[in-house]
Amino acid sequence: MRDGQSALVLFSGGQDSATCLAWALAHYRRVETVGFEYGQRHAVELECRQRLREETRQRFPQWAARLGDDHLLDLRALGQLSETAMTRDMAIDTDAKGLPNTFVPGRNLVFFTYAAALGWRRGIRHLVAGVCETDYSGYPDCRDDTVKAMQVALNLGMDERFVLHTPLMWLDKAATWVLAEQLGGDALVELIVEHSHTCYLGERGQRHDWGYGCGHCPACVLRAEGWRRYRIGQ
Ligand code: ZN
Repeated sequence: MRDGQSALVLFSGGQDSATCLAWALAHYRRVETVGFEYGQRHAVELECRQRLREETRQRFPQWAARLGDDHLLDLRALGQLSETAMTRDMAIDTDAKGLPNTFVPGRNLVFFTYAAALGWRRGIRHLVAGVCETDYSGYPDCRDDTVKAMQVALNLGMDERFVLHTPLMWLDKAATWVLAEQLGGDALVELIVEHSHTCYLGERGQRHDWGYGCGHCPACVLRAEGWRRYRIGQ
């Protein structure tokens, strides 16, 4: 595995991973995507993944030839053992330490491990994930130290040289919109607003200026606030 020209994007269909897909397409000759079915309460994100890929291909001809295969991995055992608001029908809440019950323990660790195993098979050593610890929900597996430790563990455990890229790690949500604009102009911003999905409740009924969602869950609040600050900064 010595391919420095290819990248594998952990692609959920949300704003962050859609921005990471564009980042990878701008930096690598061949880009594949991987998504995970882990028993999410709402399948809407998984539907958005395909639409985002199709729209990206259509609206950005310079990237179309670079966008390769999509992989959807079955990780439903993770949902079966997790008692969280992402995988059970329960109200969103936070615990005494301030950790939301939308946190699925081990999720990103498992995702990175499966992505690396897939990268191994596909000959891809650059893995790209939209995790961020600047303007986030406090998930410990989104932290820079976690990702760096994961990179070390994967490279020791597989005797390889994977590089885990996290282009959004030090960006807040407003700066993530700025990055999208830098990568693909207003067309990419519009594509992400329209076709990416962030809402924890899986709502896509109401269209806000920042996209679709219930407008009240923590993910919608974060996205709406980021969009507001992005528009003010323009
Ligand atoms: Zn919501």
